[in-house]
Amino acid sequence: MQRSGFTAFVLVLLVVAGFIFLLWSNARPAPELRVIVPTENAPTESVSGWEQILEAGFGENSTPLPTIAIPTGQYIPPTLPPASVGGTPIAAGDLGGGTNPELFSVAATPTRPPATLALLATEIPLTAISVTRAAVAWQPPPLIPPLSRDPLGRDHYYFLRPVDSNATNRGLFYYPYGSDGPENQWRIHAGIDMPNDIGQTVRAAGSGLVTWSGPGFQNTSSYGNVVLIEHDFGYNGQPVYTLYAHLSAVLVFNGQRVNAGDAIGLVGNSGRVTGPHVHFEVRYSENAYGKTVNPVLWMVPYVGTGVIAGRLTDRSGNLVQDADITIRSYATGLTIDTTATYIFQGTGVDVNSDPVWGENFVVGDVPVGRVEVIANLNGERISRLINVVEGTTNFVELTPALSTGGEASG
Ligand SMILES: [Zn+2]
Repeated sequence: MQRSGFTAFVLVLLVVAGFIFLLWSNARPAPELRVIVPTENAPTESVSGWEQILEAGFGENSTPLPTIAIPTGQYIPPTLPPASVGGTPIAAGDLGGGTNPELFSVAATPTRPPATLALLATEIPLTAISVTRAAVAWQPPPLIPPLSRDPLGRDHYYFLRPVDSNATNRGLFYYPYGSDGPENQWRIHAGIDMPNDIGQTVRAAGSGLVTWSGPGFQNTSSYGNVVLIEHDFGYNGQPVYTLYAHLSAVLVFNGQRVNAGDAIGLVGNSGRVTGPHVHFEVRYSENAYGKTVNPVLWMVPYVGTGVIAGRLTDRSGNLVQDADITIRSYATGLTIDTTATYIFQGTGVDVNSDPVWGENFVVGDVPVGRVEVIANLNGERISRLINVVEGTTNFVELTPALSTGGEASG
């Protein structure tokens, strides 16, 4: 009994020792890889073998690499017929389509008979205007909506711009959303203006249902001919609307479904305007004048650009109104754009900060890269350096440095 017990003990010892050895050998770091350095006598062909094979074209019996013709000339964009301006009144027959290039969503644009019915119904006199402005440059392509690259999903770039890429499709920088214009002479702006020639196609910024088409929108003549779209989608469970005002012609009817990019009207100067443009609004949660938000935070940015939104507050943390904001390139020192902070009225026709950002200024179409955001607060210069990222809202807080009071002053 004692002897067999001893043998068992030795066996168990051996098994345990073997197990520990296995554990140890596995836990040990792998032996270092030995780097074999080719000696001077070593053949060199293995070093640059692939390059040589590529250069030789895989030899005579190999399959040739496919080649593509490389264009030698510069790319020339297709030429477009000039916009229907230049002193000639637009004939009603020209308005049904064809005077302006269909630049996007061609398939989605309904082919329709000339829109004589809509034109007769609105009876908008079309006046000739002379063009003094230089031809607008092409824009880079827009990113594809809906877009929200923000890691927290805060962005809501749901819309395309309401006019084509070769039209003026940026908001007038001197009359941005929430401002009252350069001489403080205009009403607080509830949208953005895109000055374009009469007859320029106005397009649906997103898909939805036309719920207004024509004059007399919400019992005011100021807006002239209006198209209002209630969109198929909302935000945070609330409906979203877009509004297009001062149209010379309306190409859709109430109850019509439209897709993003569909032609819905033509730029005009109906209503209270100083010149032909489309006034574009985004209304959030309710179709009311007091429920607008800044459209620049809802239209998808162009490739290579981002949006800056920010808050300018005073030392007490209150939003500062009607203060100048300058965006300057850090690399070149040149001014990229300027704007002014929102003027809140505290009434039912107020402009609003975005439900996400709580901003009081926005600048769109800012090229990516480092920029300095500068505010002039009663002569005091406040600035922040930020990096503008493509296709996102880049938020910046501007507030005066808190005075410590402890520093000696000379
Ligand atoms: Zn406007």
